[in-house]
Amino acid sequence: MQLTERNMEKSLCTLAAVIFLGGFFDAAQLTDDTTTEVHLLLNSTSTAASVTVQLQHHSTAKTTPTAAQKLHTTAVTTKKLHRKNISRDSEEENNGEKKPASKTDEKKTQLDCPPLGLESLRVDDSQIRASSSQRSGLGPHRGRLNIQSGISDGDLYDGAWCAAYKDQNQWLEVDAIYLTLFTGVVLQGKNSIWSWDWVHTYKVQLSNDSVTWKTCMNGTEEAIFEGNQNAWSPVLGVLPVPTVARFIRINPQTWYINGTVCLRAEILGCRVHDPGDSSEQDLGSKDPLDFRHHNYNEMRKFMKSVTKECPDITRIYTIGKSYTGLKLYVMEISDNPGKHELGEPEFRYVAGMHGNEALGRELVLNLMQYLCKEYKKGNQRVVRLVTDTRIHLLPSMNPDGYEEAYKKGSELAGWAEGRYSFEGIDLNSNFPDLNNIMWDAEEMAIDKSKVSNHYIPIPEYYTQEDAMVSPETRAVISWMEDIPFVLSANLHGGELVVSYPFDCTVGWAPQEDTPTADNAFFRWLATVYASTNLVMANPNRRLCHHEDFQVHNNIINGGAWHTVPGSMNDFSYMHTNCFEVTVELSCDKYPHASELPIEWENNKESLLVYMEQIHRGIKGVVRDKMTKQGISDAVIKVEDHDHDIRSAVDGDYWRLLNPGEYKVVVWAEGYFPSMRRCHVGMQPRATICDFTLTKTPLQRLKEIRAKGLKIPQDFLQLRLRALRLRKLRATTKVLNQRRVGQRMLQEERKARGA
Ligand SMILES: [Zn+2]
Repeated sequence: MQLTERNMEKSLCTLAAVIFLGGFFDAAQLTDDTTTEVHLLLNSTSTAASVTVQLQHHSTAKTTPTAAQKLHTTAVTTKKLHRKNISRDSEEENNGEKKPASKTDEKKTQLDCPPLGLESLRVDDSQIRASSSQRSGLGPHRGRLNIQSGISDGDLYDGAWCAAYKDQNQWLEVDAIYLTLFTGVVLQGKNSIWSWDWVHTYKVQLSNDSVTWKTCMNGTEEAIFEGNQNAWSPVLGVLPVPTVARFIRINPQTWYINGTVCLRAEILGCRVHDPGDSSEQDLGSKDPLDFRHHNYNEMRKFMKSVTKECPDITRIYTIGKSYTGLKLYVMEISDNPGKHELGEPEFRYVAGMHGNEALGRELVLNLMQYLCKEYKKGNQRVVRLVTDTRIHLLPSMNPDGYEEAYKKGSELAGWAEGRYSFEGIDLNSNFPDLNNIMWDAEEMAIDKSKVSNHYIPIPEYYTQEDAMVSPETRAVISWMEDIPFVLSANLHGGELVVSYPFDCTVGWAPQEDTPTADNAFFRWLATVYASTNLVMANPNRRLCHHEDFQVHNNIINGGAWHTVPGSMNDFSYMHTNCFEVTVELSCDKYPHASELPIEWENNKESLLVYMEQIHRGIKGVVRDKMTKQGISDAVIKVEDHDHDIRSAVDGDYWRLLNPGEYKVVVWAEGYFPSMRRCHVGMQPRATICDFTLTKTPLQRLKEIRAKGLKIPQDFLQLRLRALRLRKLRATTKVLNQRRVGQRMLQEERKARGA
């Protein structure tokens, strides 16, 4: 439905008088212009009253009764909307030129009041009521956009609100608590793998007291809103006349013939400003960051602006391209960008491997800007972090998927749109499954300790040209090989939990705790993030969908959650030195832009303190005793930890460990092994444990070979690993060239056709 001047003046959405609105803004715009005049004509007396509408919905403070009472019997209709041109969101960077927003974009943006927060859980269970419900698992508190049921229906946490009766008297009611300018409803069917239920059409009712209800009108008739045609796609219903009220009801009229009255919803509304309430000024974050959703072009522009602001500590580079040719940009932040410094560990954050999980992308962009600004301000913590760490930030691993979700926007992208790569690949199960290779080898071996427990080569099949390996995955694998990463986190969304490897279970069990040799440290890492995240750490928080992770302190072993063969975390641990966990950042995969400041605050400390964990355990340099040169690929073995680490090109190494006493043996080809005891204390800095190795007499090595003794298994493994990587890169190159050729051909055809 479109909002036109004509139907606005004609229609009388019952609670009615007149509002002059200076414009509908996104909360992200609040800094520019936060308040606008609203005129109200009181029905009874026909005198004009005036209040201010502020498009803000963060504050949890209550409206003073005076303003509420004033409007209690007041019905409001929009007479005229002075449309403010909101072009910031739709500004595109095209070779430096600004492209004006299209008319439809403009309209869409202006109509967008933010969601009240049924999906984000900002709206509490107690604010949602219903006429009836089938059972508690299908109660009104489940009528939230994108809520997910468990595998089995019938539990406490089912996939929608469902009415007990199939008639037109059913309703789901939301109490906005404050006077709110309601502008729209987003409706979705029931999430279930067992049944199909959705609402085809519905009416909307509004009330100031939850007693007297007025149905939303479209001209002289009651407005009938178009609902869903399937169970998963959210559909927006725009109120013909934006209306101020406190309560809103969704009243289903028709539904899928074989189903019942079930729905999930979000309500769009702008809170009516109360001048007496100072708490409404809280914008969510004091950090002056660019809180909005950035599409590909905006992200590129934004990253450039950060390097411009902090040229001395930043560098942008690309690690490859997506299927459609979008670049995978990385921001490096370090005191010496562009080079590895001896002993300085390398960290990475990867976001957006599932393109629709958009919060991670924005948090990583926020983090870039924050580190830059705080470094310049001389924030000691940030200066230390940037000086002692080489930080790599990949905000969008799956830009093709993101663009798909972005087109729909935060409320209409649904649960899965944009998750996969352009080719339909789930990138988080697209890495080679090295777990089963290791476990199979261990099963076959007579002596398990002889089986390599790290640096496992990519399997042959994976390097073939026709292997279903996405260009995004190939790019990330090459990146992981090029840089000696020590620690990483993989940012996702849709839940609130931190999961740690292994993600893949032994023997294809669907769900089983599958610890690594570094389980204690991984649990520490996960806990560091989970215990500092303001939402996860809140013991009173409501669970997101149907699983209660609070009983595990918001951390879980990946396999214990659900098995994922070929995950990035497992690959990172098995193929490289890097420890990686998955962070599920929020219940809502794609929060509305107005939620971004508060989400930054929820995650700021976690993002910082997690990076600082890279400075735990032991580190040092492995050198040749005679030449003092660093030895690369030296194996660092820690007693009782069946997972080795290798030194980087210059001989430096990092071994993440919890506090304790460790017996460490270092060993390299052609050298005598060396043993040391290293103590790791409680303080958050790595213990230096350098090693000097003595070369074995060359003669002795020759003798071993002459006797026909085998070259140690480990070195064969290392050679195989290098060989397979070379093969993978070769096929990637061929595929990329072919893809560019195809694209050029397509463009040529298009040009000829046009
Ligand atoms: Zn995900």
